[in-house]
Amino acid sequence: MEIKEYVLNRKQELKKEVDTLPIKPHLVIIQVNDDEASNSYIRGKLKDSAEIGVRATLIKLSPSITEEELITIINKQNNDKDVNGLIVQMPLPKQINEQRIKLAVSPKKDVDGFHPLSTLSPCTPKGIITYLKAVGFNFVGKNAVVIGRSNIVGRPMAKLLINESANVTVLHSKTSRSDMDFYIKHADLIVVAVGHKSFLDNSREYRKDAIIVDVGINRIDGKLYGDAEANLPVKLQTPVPGGVGLLTRITLIENLLEVYKNAI
Ligand code: NAP
Repeated sequence: MEIKEYVLNRKQELKKEVDTLPIKPHLVIIQVNDDEASNSYIRGKLKDSAEIGVRATLIKLSPSITEEELITIINKQNNDKDVNGLIVQMPLPKQINEQRIKLAVSPKKDVDGFHPLSTLSPCTPKGIITYLKAVGFNFVGKNAVVIGRSNIVGRPMAKLLINESANVTVLHSKTSRSDMDFYIKHADLIVVAVGHKSFLDNSREYRKDAIIVDVGINRIDGKLYGDAEANLPVKLQTPVPGGVGLLTRITLIENLLEVYKNAI
């Protein structure tokens, strides 16, 4: 099943569930930038919320805001009983410490799953695992290679794959080309989250039955590209656009419903 079809089905299921709730879950998005990519992600989150029937409020703040002012606004949302989920859209302006802001969001409302005390996993890796399970991928004993070790994708992806009993290798910018090629060649599952167009291309070897999950989003001359060239010789390769980005978005709503239920 393609990601678009999977997400459409999940949206219908989530809408049915939300329709039965007397008070609709409420997501608050705080934006402190005027970044083109962020504007587009937020439009997607608002669209999904409207389609599924959850409430979503965007609080757009000036990029010149101070860290203390931002924390005061976050605390207000943390203490507001009518707010179930809270996210602060990244990136943040230079004067604001990203880690401090991630820690300021209450772990009970942290639907992004960034807080160390949050019981939720970050949306992108969680969405990937849920999708791969839905299409019948059996993780046990499989060679999974994660390329990229960021806090929001690579590291939590590796942790979730370990939990599924895959054999997990995490590669990064210090990995040599020959080692990179070796691990890729033996991988059953490759999750690539590097941020370089054509990082995976035809110059490398792949298992014919491998799965490539392309997390990358590279904006070049107004067009979107993943980290993998299209049509590599593997069994399944997720597209960009219309791939992992949709999984991330639907998982945000799943996480919102989870915190809503936990609060009851
Ligand atoms: P990030 O924080 O910039 O991390 C990139 C990772 O790639 C780092 O670990 C880096 O290694 C590694 N890397 C960079 N160049 C490399 C190279 N030449 N060879 C091997 N590894 C290399 O990025 P991120 O936040 O994880 O995002 C990665 C990509 O996914 C971006 O394109 C981003 O836009 C996209 N993304 C998409 C979604 C979605 O929903 N589809 C969600 C989040 C992110 P070092 O640690 O050694 O520097």
